[in-house]
Amino acid sequence: MTQNGPSRRLFLKLAALLGAGAAVRPDTLLARGTPSGRTVNTFNGLRAEGPRPLSIASANGLGATQRAVERMRAGEDTLNAVIAGVNIVENDPEDMTVGYGGLPNEDGIVELDSCVMHGPTMRGAGVAALRNIKNPSLVAKTVMERTDHVLLVGEGALRFARAHGFREENLLTDAAREEWLRWKENLSAKDDWLPPHTSEDRDIGALHEFEMQREAEMERPTGTINCLGVNEAGEVSGVTTTSGLAFKIPGRVGDSPILGAGLYVDNAVGAAGSTGRGEANLQSLASFLIVERMRQGDAPTDACLFACRRIAEQTKMKRLLDEQGRPAFNVNFYALNLRGEHGAASIWSGRTYAVNDGGESRLLDTAYLYERP
Ligand code: ASP
Repeated sequence: MTQNGPSRRLFLKLAALLGAGAAVRPDTLLARGTPSGRTVNTFNGLRAEGPRPLSIASANGLGATQRAVERMRAGEDTLNAVIAGVNIVENDPEDMTVGYGGLPNEDGIVELDSCVMHGPTMRGAGVAALRNIKNPSLVAKTVMERTDHVLLVGEGALRFARAHGFREENLLTDAAREEWLRWKENLSAKDDWLPPHTSEDRDIGALHEFEMQREAEMERPTGTINCLGVNEAGEVSGVTTTSGLAFKIPGRVGDSPILGAGLYVDNAVGAAGSTGRGEANLQSLASFLIVERMRQGDAPTDACLFACRRIAEQTKMKRLLDEQGRPAFNVNFYALNLRGEHGAASIWSGRTYAVNDGGESRLLDTAYLYERP
């Protein structure tokens, strides 16, 4: 495979989507010591009241936040507004981390996770491991509105969606299938799946080794969209939607569809959501934690950093740590409060988040615990 082959293209696309390489503004950061002696940075600003309506999202949410604010301005309910925003990304085959065109599970089947929360009524619901329906956020909203349940998964979620007239379609695009195939062909030199080669190639073993090395050097693709909104009246809602961890074990559920993990909203406080390694967030329920920290008076950015620090401190398994004992993965948190203040933080630097408070959406740097080498 050449430098411009699908894996390189995917990497670049993911890097752009995830905002990798964005600069951190040191003037807005304060160094802080932690009990473990690690250096932590935090923002010291962003406490002033912000304009509303306001929407924030993960870095792939420039269009989503724009649409959410337009809808809130037009008087639409906050939940409908943020869902309309993320529908753009769910329907976009170019975003290989969400909805249609998302990267599949290890069997090559796309399985989607999503949840929604509506602040004014303090209700929420999720769907997980949902196949064939490209807008799991709308199915989650329907679970909230048309059942007494909070979470539907797998076959049950699909049957429920069918009953409500959601159209089934094949969500696996050719681009996503090719990425899956490349991953599968480079998992092991001992199985029967071979990397692409021509009739002239005599040394498939060497080819395999080269491709497997490159595969190992690439981070496992992840991605999601989380979008939060607060309107002029101080009503808050949020949504998270994803195809989850690429090439996951079928049935694996991440943090995105779980209330308290991938999303939490409290109309008395604000909202928080996440992207990144779902397994870490599922064990810390960080969105709930962030909202509770904001309830105690934390600014959104500080609350997000608190959650990052909690995850760093709770990560004990060697295989998940780098040589310096820091998490060898990333998580990103986004939060806003009723007053229109917002912030975001990641374990590792170089990430951005989307903000719209009227006019054009823009990307801001997230605060972080550790500078990426
Ligand atoms: N949090 C998602 C999951 O674990 C993936 C991601 O955001 O990258 O399913």
